[in-house]
Amino acid sequence: MNVMFLGTGAGIPAKSRNVTSIALQLLEERNAVWLFDCGEATQHQILHTPIKPRKIEKIFITHLHGDHIYGLPGLISSRSFQGGEGLLTIYGPKGIEEFVKIALSVSHTHLSYFIKFIEIEEGVIFEDHLFQVTAIKLEHGIDSYGYRVIEKDLPGTLLVDKLEQAGIKPGPIYQKIKSGDTVTLEDGSVIHGPDFIGPAQKGRIVTILGDTRFSKRSLELAEQADLLIHEATFSEEDEKLAYNYFHSTTKQAAQVAYEAKAKKLILTHISSRYQTDHDLDKLVKEAQAIFPNSFIANDFMQMEIPKKRE
Ligand SMILES: [Zn+2]
Ligand SMILES: [Zn+2]
Repeated sequence: MNVMFLGTGAGIPAKSRNVTSIALQLLEERNAVWLFDCGEATQHQILHTPIKPRKIEKIFITHLHGDHIYGLPGLISSRSFQGGEGLLTIYGPKGIEEFVKIALSVSHTHLSYFIKFIEIEEGVIFEDHLFQVTAIKLEHGIDSYGYRVIEKDLPGTLLVDKLEQAGIKPGPIYQKIKSGDTVTLEDGSVIHGPDFIGPAQKGRIVTILGDTRFSKRSLELAEQADLLIHEATFSEEDEKLAYNYFHSTTKQAAQVAYEAKAKKLILTHISSRYQTDHDLDKLVKEAQAIFPNSFIANDFMQMEIPKKRE
């Protein structure tokens, strides 16, 4: 599981930062990539990465501002040209379906696959045996959602070496032991299933927020997250601007990470007014003063979210 930043700028594209898109790569977990937002030219950014558009299984849109959705029609149609056949599900606020459908119909684009649209409200918006995704509304003047991606805990694996050492031969009995049952062998000895199962692998939590003012609503999404991705359009000095434009400062993002007891914070959606290494160093230090494990995203930066053992 890792995150790749495809665009880390705010509002308009710049030479060094494209507009927002983040790829959550779940290749090992489900052989798929989930995209969060799709700013203009996201498909161009993808060309510089190993990501294959046909592997994109889901796209989660945080809100309908252009810098988060203008890349959708192009990416969707290229996915078709490149042999994508699998269902694509697009989650987002009300209006996302109309936006995509009009772009595709006006341009006479015919796709080789189906798109399922899910116009979301707050709550659990997706769940299967591996993952659960929750959405909560933030504060951005228009509907803007944050997403909390929870990987479910995986049960421990069967300790085959230990079973063989105990003289238990492979067979249907292994399945019973794996289920955690207590099993009586032919010689009368009793095997306690859980003794032969390795430690459970604790699921990971990744929180990706849309554009927002500093909001207590972010805390619920970010609670104990292994990775929190929070916008930081402005420096701490520009708190007034941040408030007026419904955005956050570095310090406010760090405050959310700190209060939510997140493990790592990555700042993104950086205004083009901050260009030099000096500016960027200053931004990250403002966050680190409150939450030391803070980083600032660059286009194409990757961050691994390591597995956890109980
Ligand atoms: Zn934005
Ligand atoms: Zn916005």
